[in-house]
Amino acid sequence: MKPEVRGQESGAGSQNSAGVPASEFRPPNSGCADLHLHTHFSDGTFSPEEVVARGCRAGLGTLALTDHDTVEGCPRMAVACATAHLDFITGAELTAEHNELELHILGYFIDPENQKLLRELARCQIVRQDRVREMVARLNELNVPLQAEQVFALANCSSPGRPHVARALVKSGCCASHDEAFERFLKKGRPAWVPKAKMSALEAIELVHQAGGLAVMAHPALNRADHLIPALKDAGLDGLECFHTKHSASARRRYLEFAERFHLLVTGGSDCHGKSKGRPLIGTVKLAYEYVEKLKAEDKRRKSGATVATPALDPRPSTLD
Ligand code: AMP
Ligand code: ZN
Ligand code: FE
Ligand code: FE
Repeated sequence: MKPEVRGQESGAGSQNSAGVPASEFRPPNSGCADLHLHTHFSDGTFSPEEVVARGCRAGLGTLALTDHDTVEGCPRMAVACATAHLDFITGAELTAEHNELELHILGYFIDPENQKLLRELARCQIVRQDRVREMVARLNELNVPLQAEQVFALANCSSPGRPHVARALVKSGCCASHDEAFERFLKKGRPAWVPKAKMSALEAIELVHQAGGLAVMAHPALNRADHLIPALKDAGLDGLECFHTKHSASARRRYLEFAERFHLLVTGGSDCHGKSKGRPLIGTVKLAYEYVEKLKAEDKRRKSGATVATPALDPRPSTLD
């Protein structure tokens, strides 16, 4: 497969903007991928440049950015990847639901300037901001002295969520840790938990498609939504995230079998949020490049307007994590 357009070569011994020595550059299209990464444009703690620098050090060849309900980090991540000679796949992780079950739909190869996508994401972001205000109001009723503005200042992004409220609770001294904040106040059923209005999974799949992307169900083992896979496939679901930090070996095998049975593409990633959940996870799940090639081939086929179905996919369990 032909290498994609890349950034300019750095001279020997020089460093790129991601701070990675030129000697650490990988040959084009070699290595594996981490296709599930968050930055501080949602609830990760790293900048796009830090993610790319760490991706380089982990020996990854392809990265995808999948911030929650936003594509704002994509342009910077694209530049940082090009400079570091890594392949970049645009993406987002859309919060959705089907039959009252929360599902996360990953959109890959989406156009981050697609107007309908941006309009819908803006709506999701307003829902998230209103939810933060509601969580803070509930905390205030519990005599926890927090202001929504403190959370927004700390989050400094348009797609805030519970992790930012948790960080604000720790910063203001109300909780000793992120985990304590979730346990006492924020996890489902706790007094400051507020349900989130979500788009339907079918709308999410359609939104990804109309933005030129492939729609993938994120971390299926975490959502207990196996029974929904056939219906979502019928609705246009393109892939399953078989490889994920929280998938056991048996879950991995199970979803590889699902992928094979339903002719779904196979993806994988660490779901790294930087330092917000213990050690940074980037590179701990390495998707074998053969899967990335299949994703890229399908993206190319869609964008070329071809209508012939691809041959049955061959999802073999050959990742290196
Ligand atoms: P939100 O989208 O605002 O509902 O927040 C979801 C984020 O909170 C995800 O990144 C989760 O990993 C994180 N999260 C959810 N539950 C917990 C928990 N019990 N402890 C720590 N983080 C959590
Ligand atoms: Zn997150
Ligand atoms: Fe998720
Ligand atoms: Fe995620």
